[in-house]
Amino acid sequence: MQYVSTRGNSPAVGFSAALQRGLAPDGGLYVPDAWPSFDPATLPPSDPLPPLAAAFIAPFAAGDVLQAQLPAILAEAFNFPAPLRPVPGNDSGNERLYVLELVHGPTAAFKDFGARFLAASLAKLRPPGSRPLRIIVATSGDTGGAVAAAFHRRPGFEVVVLYPKGLVSPTQERQLTCWGGNVRSFAVLGTFDDCQRMAKEALADAELRASSELSSANSINLGRLLPQASYYAAASLEIWRKHGQRASFIIPSGNLGNSVACVWARKVGLPIDEILLAHNVNRTVPEYLETGQLRTRPSVATLASAMDVGAPSNLERLAFLHPDIDDLRHAVSATSVTDEEISARIRTEHAAHGLVWCPHTAVAAEAYRKLPQERRDKHWVIVGTAHAAKFREIVEPLIGRRLGMPSALQALFDRPSQFEEIPASLEALRAALQASGTHG
Ligand SMILES: *Cc1c(COP(=O)(O)O)cnc(C)c1O
Repeated sequence: MQYVSTRGNSPAVGFSAALQRGLAPDGGLYVPDAWPSFDPATLPPSDPLPPLAAAFIAPFAAGDVLQAQLPAILAEAFNFPAPLRPVPGNDSGNERLYVLELVHGPTAAFKDFGARFLAASLAKLRPPGSRPLRIIVATSGDTGGAVAAAFHRRPGFEVVVLYPKGLVSPTQERQLTCWGGNVRSFAVLGTFDDCQRMAKEALADAELRASSELSSANSINLGRLLPQASYYAAASLEIWRKHGQRASFIIPSGNLGNSVACVWARKVGLPIDEILLAHNVNRTVPEYLETGQLRTRPSVATLASAMDVGAPSNLERLAFLHPDIDDLRHAVSATSVTDEEISARIRTEHAAHGLVWCPHTAVAAEAYRKLPQERRDKHWVIVGTAHAAKFREIVEPLIGRRLGMPSALQALFDRPSQFEEIPASLEALRAALQASGTHG
């Protein structure tokens, strides 16, 4: 299997190279040059996830050195479950509502699946004795924690986390700064956009490149998308085997990585029906589907902060697959939810059913409530993207009680916090990195 750029101006590369490069040289995103095709009846059981994920990803890695190692990589990366649970309080008529809980990894959000798969894969590709690979990640919250956790204490890797000082929640900041060792966290005196610009500039900087190999681990990496597609494969198979029906997914969306993963799973033959992209008031995608005009804009801050994206990078992959706007409208639908609706949904479902949604998952729960009755008569799955305790500053006042921490998250909170504050410039980052010497 070869991977080509969405922009069509880069040479095709194999699976390993696409993982190592992240972005294609022409600035496009890697997509497969041909699609495998699965017969759902021949796939392994959906539980446990690692063997199914290995079978699902195998044809995408056909001919690559990593193909034979997928079972080991997935056993290591997916060492926590992704349960599909019925949502209580939905017993009317034919309605069957589930939540796919992607919150049981070390940083309690779905980004653990992609980050851990990428880390385990890149570790297999490092020749012994090679100089450390420095991974630079700009984050507005969840990505940085997941990437830091996935590479923490891995020999041959260093992680540099850049986050905007004062613009992430106290709980998120803890997760970005609790690592030490081979992870260095920088509180940048600027915005998330500044962090992203600095990461891009650093990756292209000759001086930094001379001192270590550099890479990124952002959400456009193929090595984050494919493992995410495998949990859609598992969930849809579980529903198909149980009910003989295809599953429809409502996905809390920002950069569209998680949504493109679901579209890809359906594309290769998994029993998936509708895919509904649930956005906060950053309405770029819903508006694009309505008007056919792509109007990117600066992001607006919302309660579902990990989805505050005004220019979703993976839209390029969706448009590559469905260049015709009517075709794209047929493939996915999209909706937008306000902060007031998020708060009300968290409050109401806690009061009525004892459910505790994180603000992102609440966007999907609200999108489900807004579906017209005739579309509800399906097997819908709300994708639970983060544990509510990760956003306890928002959720606890709404539900009027304290939340217990999952033990993995609690373990992070027991570690000391360490970070360095730097101005929002490449020079400041370069100086801090060059001055580092050895650490950890
Ligand atoms: C990153 C994130 C999202 C958005 O996912 P995309 O792949 O960027 O669309 C949604 N919810 C949570 C909790 C996240 O961390």
